[in-house]
Amino acid sequence: MTTSSTTAADVMIGYAPPGEDIDSSAPGWQDEVRRLAAEQDAVILAHNYQVAEIQDVADHVGDSLALSRIAAAAAARTIVFCGVHFMAETAKILSPDKRVLIPDARAGCSLADTINADQLRAWKADNPDAVVVAYVNTTAEVKAESDICCTSSNAVDVVAGIPAKRPVLFLPDQFLGAHVKRVTGRENMQVWLGECHVHAGISPSDVRDQVAAHPDADLLVHPECGCTTSVLWLAGHGGLPEHRTHILSTGGMVEAARTMTASTALVATEVGMLHQLRAVNPRTRFLPMNPLASCRYMKMITPAKLLRSLREGRDEVHVDPDLAARARRAVQAMVAVGTPSPVAE
Ligand code: SF4
Repeated sequence: MTTSSTTAADVMIGYAPPGEDIDSSAPGWQDEVRRLAAEQDAVILAHNYQVAEIQDVADHVGDSLALSRIAAAAAARTIVFCGVHFMAETAKILSPDKRVLIPDARAGCSLADTINADQLRAWKADNPDAVVVAYVNTTAEVKAESDICCTSSNAVDVVAGIPAKRPVLFLPDQFLGAHVKRVTGRENMQVWLGECHVHAGISPSDVRDQVAAHPDADLLVHPECGCTTSVLWLAGHGGLPEHRTHILSTGGMVEAARTMTASTALVATEVGMLHQLRAVNPRTRFLPMNPLASCRYMKMITPAKLLRSLREGRDEVHVDPDLAARARRAVQAMVAVGTPSPVAE
């Protein structure tokens, strides 16, 4: 079925109207994306958890912070951010003069949704001397209420850099917070009890079963993952191959994969990550710790919605300028700490 706005070319390349998807195996839709991107002076960014077709057609693939930095440095007037909403929002915060589009603004994040600005203001009121450290998986409103942001790979440096006497409020991820608290040994740190449904879905029993089934495999574990505590505990008690267990951000996983010599690696994070790892290292067999660990929000971005976004300029991301200025301070404070990592989720 076609609509009045569907052209013959749409049919030929398999483009379907909004609400339907295209056959991404049909030839030509990628050329149409590239043509529209050039026409719109747009750069297309894709998060590591996007479907393979989106990753392959994008100008850049990476984690949220690296992509935001690319967005800020890009000469293009329009940024099309194929990821979830807080990521596109962060790109807008760092690039207020650019037009930022996300192909589906309903692509949220269960982790970012675990705390809102009112809840954070109440938490701060109970702890008036505390320094608020917010993981980048937060809304602009929450960032604006925070003192400093962090990524999964520099969270330890950020917290370690806060004077020992100052209490710390860490949000929103309880697994990353527990990891940071353990590594820094900081007692005066409270952690918000938020979690991502995907990472929390990778259970310690998944880890044990997979490690038993693949005894020679390297383990790549994202620190937000619900199994991290168990992995570290097991490793510390001889239950896992400690020298082959790597706690890494998603960007760190890609770097580690480049030089990996193991024949098999088990990956404990969202399954979209496997596409990047396999692309940089075809020698190693990368297997998911849990093949069901898929982010439904990330998968809301489809080739049809990317085409619609370029054609119709939707969905445009707006952030109030005053709010953006306050949120930008927290993001820039993060960049100024230690050796800021180019990686995040
Ligand atoms: S994988 Fe989890 S933290 Fe990442 S975008 Fe999806 S819901 Fe949010």
